[in-house]
Amino acid sequence: METMKAMVLDRLAPIETRPLKLESLPMPSPKKGEVLLEIEACGVCRSNLHMIEGDWKDIGSPSRLPVVPGHEVVGVVKMADGAKKFRVGDRVGIQPLFSSCMKCEYCLKGREHLCDDAEITGESVQGGYAEYIAASEEFVTRIPDNIDSPHAAPLFCPGITAYKAVMASEPAKNRSVGIFGVGGVGHLAVQLAKLEGSRVVAISRTKGHLDLAKKLGADNAVVYQESVDQFVKSLKKDEGFLDSAIVFAPSEKAIDAAIKSVKKGGTVVVGVVGNIPSFSAFEEKTIRGTVIGSRQDMADLVKIAAAGSLKVVIETYKLAEANDVLARLKKSEVEARAVLVP
Ligand SMILES: [Zn+2]
Ligand SMILES: [Zn+2]
Repeated sequence: METMKAMVLDRLAPIETRPLKLESLPMPSPKKGEVLLEIEACGVCRSNLHMIEGDWKDIGSPSRLPVVPGHEVVGVVKMADGAKKFRVGDRVGIQPLFSSCMKCEYCLKGREHLCDDAEITGESVQGGYAEYIAASEEFVTRIPDNIDSPHAAPLFCPGITAYKAVMASEPAKNRSVGIFGVGGVGHLAVQLAKLEGSRVVAISRTKGHLDLAKKLGADNAVVYQESVDQFVKSLKKDEGFLDSAIVFAPSEKAIDAAIKSVKKGGTVVVGVVGNIPSFSAFEEKTIRGTVIGSRQDMADLVKIAAAGSLKVVIETYKLAEANDVLARLKKSEVEARAVLVP
């Protein structure tokens, strides 16, 4: 039997205990309608860390163990016998939405990422911390030649998350948007909001992240402070209230700060798991949630990236280093996006 190397999780545990083990697994065999990919890159996501450490047990993730994590995957088609749209040698990416039912009201209206019967890459099916993966040809996205695989991988989770959130913030010329959290997702949101014409205000507690945001085109950068009142006061002085805000920092306080940072009638987009702490109806503010995106969103984003103006900042690591990378991510030591290259 042919085998492949993969980083396998068989128990949920703190990343310091190195719960991912390098193992030999049988090669996936593609079913009808699927392609077999030889993986060239897989992004390392904070969601992977949450799942591995058991933070998401209560919301049913992972729904299988053992599991191979990883949900921003780029690979080259090695087998396409049962597929119609792709040929051997094509390069494609897989996003967290591995597949969906294609029959429910969401799937029929192009919002398949909201499907209740969706499979999630690296959570309910095997993911990309591996050398090979099989995936449905209906749910993979073609990658143009001018984006290399390590830079393409983050488009498939932080990229689409940033894109959806920026579009939900109603970007426009003469409208300001505050981006709370400038990591793997935020650094792309800064650029996408600029491309849409907004005035971009980056907000982070880390100076390195603010410097990066400035380098990537942010018009202003404001240091996030633990005291929400203090922060709002300094934002008001330095920038004024915002037309909209997007939250990628996984903190209730950051969501609270974002709500208080927008003008009356403003929009707050929440792109992380988190509760809404306080909300006053009489300020006519809108709070919207976003989660990844549809296949059309994915294709649109890849097109924007291929046009060349989106800079994806990455660090690359070997597959076997996944535990170490995730530990670094936990300590906020990764500048933008870590990518595993098998
Ligand atoms: Zn992710
Ligand atoms: Zn569905």
